[in-house]
Amino acid sequence: SSDCPVQTFRARDLTITRSTNLKPFSDPRTMIGSSTDHMLKVSWSSSTGWGAPEIVPYAPIPLDPAATVLHYANECFEGMKAYRNKNTGKIQVFRPDLNAKRLNMSADRIALPSFDNDEFITLLRAYVVVEERWLAWSGNAAFTEADESDFLYLRPMMIGTTPRLGLAKPNDAMLLIIACKFPSWHSRPLRLLASSPAETVRAWPGGFGFAKVGANYGPTLQYQNHAASLGYDQVLWLFDADKRYVTEAGGANFFVVWRTDDGDVELVTAPLEAKTVLDGVTRRSVIELVRERMPDIRVTERQFSVDEIAAAVDSQKIIEAFACGTAFFIAPVGEIGITGRDVKIPLKVEGKSGVYARTIKRWLEEIFYGEIDHAWGVTV
Ligand code: PMP
Repeated sequence: SSDCPVQTFRARDLTITRSTNLKPFSDPRTMIGSSTDHMLKVSWSSSTGWGAPEIVPYAPIPLDPAATVLHYANECFEGMKAYRNKNTGKIQVFRPDLNAKRLNMSADRIALPSFDNDEFITLLRAYVVVEERWLAWSGNAAFTEADESDFLYLRPMMIGTTPRLGLAKPNDAMLLIIACKFPSWHSRPLRLLASSPAETVRAWPGGFGFAKVGANYGPTLQYQNHAASLGYDQVLWLFDADKRYVTEAGGANFFVVWRTDDGDVELVTAPLEAKTVLDGVTRRSVIELVRERMPDIRVTERQFSVDEIAAAVDSQKIIEAFACGTAFFIAPVGEIGITGRDVKIPLKVEGKSGVYARTIKRWLEEIFYGEIDHAWGVTV
């Protein structure tokens, strides 16, 4: 009937109010750390469902101090990037269908409402078009050189907003999309500190480590700060004090390449079944591309322990290791602190990367920046 709550927002209801006070710049690459000029927002309530989406000037949002998100952490988010196609100058996003699905999955895990994935992607595209000037363009007179590393970071998110301290499913929610200019990750190989799972874990079977909810991140910062104070870039999160399984590296999935006992080259990463790692878009893309383009490599998703890595280093079976994710892209790992010992991982390409990481990185860059036509690069 007509009073059923609306099950999804609809892109055709979108209204756009452009900012009359745009941030001044002549080159967006100088705006590192800055949010863009607009945000997208849609409200939901349990009685009426989703309202009409709006793109409005970027501004603080009013929240009641009793809003459920501030007490019970009903918050989930996504991280994605928009890139300028080097050939056409058009903007594209990478596999947005996977982020849409994951946002829905995360929202469901914390009792926030669902929405239609295609409507979400259409809204995201409309938002990126509004923020187009935040991506450098070599075809524009203002940018004299082609830029192969510029991107715009997109942060969709959903929060529970009902002003009520009782612990119950929120009756109100808000979906937002904001964007921010981040620096590209061009730095030295990563040093990881393997966590000490008897003391602290990031995720556990039956928990929510597989969901991209804010509640997975805040509680990791204490140990992350500890790692940083010892000179490490990220924590390599282990699970199970006896088995010491490798899960993921901070906000990135983690891969090792080594030689197996029967002489094969194996690319290994933690499996999704245990639900203790995020189903990363980059992780999935790495697995799919290597299976398709390097048929000689054995790609394995299984539990493996950090002590297997140390043993592979000692027996010289290790080939390389890397972390991967939207923010880190493909980040070679040069060292892992494992129970007091800094284990060195080979970096065969100029001491900066392994050969596989370098190759996979190029493959992905070609898709991100439209150097090749590929279904994963979706023009906005
Ligand atoms: N693991 C965690 C915990 C993350 O936060 C992220 C970043 N979203 C990733 C892995 C990588 O996922 P993606 O490749 O989709 O960015």
